[in-house]
Amino acid sequence: MNDTPAKERPVPPDALLDRFAAIVGEKYTVREASDMAPHLVELRGLYEGRAALVLRPGSTDEVSRILALANETGTPVVPQGGNTGLVGGQIPFDTGNEVIVSLTRMNRIRTVDSVGNAMTVDAGVTLAQAREAADAADRLFPLSLPSEGSCQIGGNLSTNAGGAAVLAYGNTRELTLGLEVVLADGRVWDGLRSLRKDNTGYDLKDLFIGAEGTLGIITGAVLKLFPKPESRTTAIAGLSSVANVGMLFEIARRIGNASLTAFEIVPRIGIEYVLRHGQQTRDPLQGPHDWYALLELSGQKADGGAEDRLEAILTEALEAEIVEDAAIAASLGQSEDFWRLRELLSEVQGHEGGSIKHDVSVPVALIPEFVARASETVTKMIPGARPVPFGHYGDGNIHYNVSQPPDMDKQAFMARWDEVNAAVHAIVKDLNGSISAEHGIGRMKRDLLPEVKSAVELDLMRAIKKTLDPNGILNPGKLL
Ligand SMILES: Cc1cc2nc3c(=O)[nH]c(=O)nc-3n(C[C@H](O)[C@H](O)[C@H](O)COP(=O)(O)OP(=O)(O)OC[C@H]3O[C@@H](n4cnc5c(N)ncnc54)[C@H](O)[C@@H]3O)c2cc1C
Repeated sequence: MNDTPAKERPVPPDALLDRFAAIVGEKYTVREASDMAPHLVELRGLYEGRAALVLRPGSTDEVSRILALANETGTPVVPQGGNTGLVGGQIPFDTGNEVIVSLTRMNRIRTVDSVGNAMTVDAGVTLAQAREAADAADRLFPLSLPSEGSCQIGGNLSTNAGGAAVLAYGNTRELTLGLEVVLADGRVWDGLRSLRKDNTGYDLKDLFIGAEGTLGIITGAVLKLFPKPESRTTAIAGLSSVANVGMLFEIARRIGNASLTAFEIVPRIGIEYVLRHGQQTRDPLQGPHDWYALLELSGQKADGGAEDRLEAILTEALEAEIVEDAAIAASLGQSEDFWRLRELLSEVQGHEGGSIKHDVSVPVALIPEFVARASETVTKMIPGARPVPFGHYGDGNIHYNVSQPPDMDKQAFMARWDEVNAAVHAIVKDLNGSISAEHGIGRMKRDLLPEVKSAVELDLMRAIKKTLDPNGILNPGKLL
């Protein structure tokens, strides 16, 4: 057992680095700091670190040999997928003693089973690649994130990613049947089962899903597939308040039932940002509205048309004056235009100066109260601050982001990050919510964990970590 805290361990000597490099071959070893650069910083620049080496293994066996050597020598390892994580879990610290294991080369679709509706993939397959492979077999893999071109299945599993289709299909955890994981000591757990029913003791895969690379490196997964919806319809509705969004959601749930596959919320300020900074965008409705709801219904033709149901939802909401105006997409292109307004939101905020972010969830019925209380609090703390609460309304998941006042210094605004986080999280806790709905804990929220987990939960989590990684080599300093 290695008790030395990871940050105090020495930078691996050259001879040890050569042993690591020999496992993957020099061609797939990155030694120069300048070549490592894309692996050392996350896309918003919030976290930047140093590494001793970046290794790009091409097989489970190579990952196994890397971890066996790391475990033997006490070398800290940072697993990295597509580097799109938003809490810094994939970025090394600045000690320079960590080895990054990038899964990018492990990008094979292993099998697609259209009878069992399952697909077995390498962990380094991008989400877009996985969705395309399902599509080619006339199936749907429903996980859908704006980062799908870069993020990888291993990263999706390790963060238990959510996205826009959770309402109908669940988080990544619910979409997973089996896993292949390399343990800290190099042993390989082959849990690549595609069974829908398997009650043979502890469900080990659930330990590794959402573990953010702290318990093992995921090298393969069996994912659930679904019939491809034959019809899909999108609409955008303009509303005067979040409370009305809640009423619209109730109607959509009742009439749409299982065919309601997405229900997203965007405030007017978000639409304005997108119109100002996004390419190929236009105001979706005639006049401005304080809030917008984006609804998607999909299903099989035999279940009745998604379009008819969507029309019924909007008619009822318009007649009850819950909705001010609405438009149903007349074409695939228009549907994509509606979705683009939502998907560009993360990106365009960067053009409006500093943004203090929160990824929280509260019980759906309490979203209006949360938004009202949080906005009152942050604008009192920083007059002129511009709240941009948007996200997955149907899951109770709001990305409560706050843009700086236009005339404030960006650094001075960002210096208030912890203080604003603390105030918003206090409201979340008061409403029995979660301070991390879908992005995880990583580096960003590690110190907040003791505030939101009971002593029993923390004890159990630490016991699991100690059992599976007694030498503390797997992503140390993240999550726990
Ligand atoms: C524009 C944008 C939009 C986004 N929208 C959403 C959204 O709607 N919903 C959502 O949930 N997230 C969203 N994200 C966040 C991000 O895309 C997800 O967290 C994604 O699942 C991370 O995957 P990745 O491959 O990039 O992982 P990385 O960023 O590389 O790593 C994330 C974590 O997983 C660990 N890890 C990665 N691969 C492995 C592996 N094979 N084995 C073990 N550990 C591993 C890393 O150590 C790290 O702790 C968004 C990000 C961006 C940039």
